[in-house]
Amino acid sequence: MPAMMFDAIVIGAGAAGLFCAAQAGQRGLSVLLIDHAERVAEKIRISGGGRCNFTNRDLDPRAPHKHFLGANPAFCRSALSRYTPDDFIALVRRHGISFHEKHKGQLFADRSAEDLIRMLLAECAAGGVTHWQPCAVQQVQWRDGRYELATARGTVQAPRLVVATGGLSIPKIGATDFGHRLAAQFGLPLVPTRPGLVPLTFDGAGWAPYAGLAGLALPVRIATGAKAARMAFDEDLLFTHRGLSGPAVLQISSYWQPGTPIDTNLAPQTDVAAFLAAGKAGSKKRIANELATLLPARLADAWAAQSPDWQRPINEASDKALARLAEGLARWPLTPTGTEGYKKAEVTVGGVDTRALSSQTLEAKTQPGLYFIGEVVDVTGWLGGYNFQWAWASAAACARGM
Ligand SMILES: Cc1cc2nc3c(=O)[nH]c(=O)nc-3n(C[C@H](O)[C@H](O)[C@H](O)COP(=O)(O)OP(=O)(O)OC[C@H]3O[C@@H](n4cnc5c(N)ncnc54)[C@H](O)[C@@H]3O)c2cc1C
Repeated sequence: MPAMMFDAIVIGAGAAGLFCAAQAGQRGLSVLLIDHAERVAEKIRISGGGRCNFTNRDLDPRAPHKHFLGANPAFCRSALSRYTPDDFIALVRRHGISFHEKHKGQLFADRSAEDLIRMLLAECAAGGVTHWQPCAVQQVQWRDGRYELATARGTVQAPRLVVATGGLSIPKIGATDFGHRLAAQFGLPLVPTRPGLVPLTFDGAGWAPYAGLAGLALPVRIATGAKAARMAFDEDLLFTHRGLSGPAVLQISSYWQPGTPIDTNLAPQTDVAAFLAAGKAGSKKRIANELATLLPARLADAWAAQSPDWQRPINEASDKALARLAEGLARWPLTPTGTEGYKKAEVTVGGVDTRALSSQTLEAKTQPGLYFIGEVVDVTGWLGGYNFQWAWASAAACARGM
């Protein structure tokens, strides 16, 4: 049977692939969209606790390094400035989807992430996109100026191939290294990958005092890295059975290098030394009880239990013991043993090296008609809608380029 022909084939019907296929179709290209998973856009479905944090109003396209990491954060400036959060918000409004801002510019659907998936599928239908799902891609070859794909539904050809197969996180809903392998097949370099926006794990004796605190949350300031590379976040921290999570830890995890410490200020709004000095002058409460006005009571108890000097009324504690307590709370240094890995990570740091791609169109510089968009590229956003905005913006840049 002769191969079916399209103007463009998009592999991966996630955030970037759906949007790119829709935009290219609406610009007049015949587009085939292929995905191997049973259900479309599963990551959008589970995102933002089921409400999809689809963009962020604080994104500054002129300064992408503020909210994106990768070997070259400036790479995403072009795409982000030509398709902005306002552009996506206008699309969401056109589809009558109501949304709200939660925290630090983060926009969520009022009802459900399903509304966004329906919107993207309607946009694909408006572009006349042919959608094969589930459909496995067995092989990709480049011959006579065309990409030829052997798929579970037959052979297809197109002069343009868009790889939108995402990162490695959450393999059980369809994540694969397909995009990275395809890049390698065409000689494109890769930046080594690791899980990002991921809970951190701890074990050994150093973690024993905190092992019983699972479920406890509090606002902290968390930091990692040295000097110019130092990153800090003011967010909530959550104790888990195996370590730490919550927005503070997810954010810092993307910057954390194995073997290095993270420092946490457990009472960032308070001068703890002054607080303890005032307690010593005017209170006879036990130190743990005094601390419980500053921290969750279980954490105050666990913390004070770490030294006999802290298990007494505060007015009887030595200045040295209180200084040590204040220092520890303001700068709790911990070296994670590891992370919860791709099983729990929201994103993949690393991916297709941006030096191999055009920042205008996302086309490979050495392989005509081959494009990489979304999370498969070495562009990683902060928690808070930045990753979806990169997916929309890189998809739009690619569709325009094609
Ligand atoms: C639990 C969770 C919550 C998240 N919440 C948010 C959030 O609220 N806001 C935010 O901005 N980001 C969030 N993210 C990150 C965001 O989901 C991703 O960055 C985004 O989906 C990336 O879009 P993408 O299109 O590049 O990849 P994906 O959306 O992952 O799509 C890739 C597609 O490619 C398909 N595919 C993979 N391999 C193959 C193959 N071999 N053959 C065919 N198809 C293949 C997959 O089935 C999938 O459909 C979250 C991630 C997770 C895991």
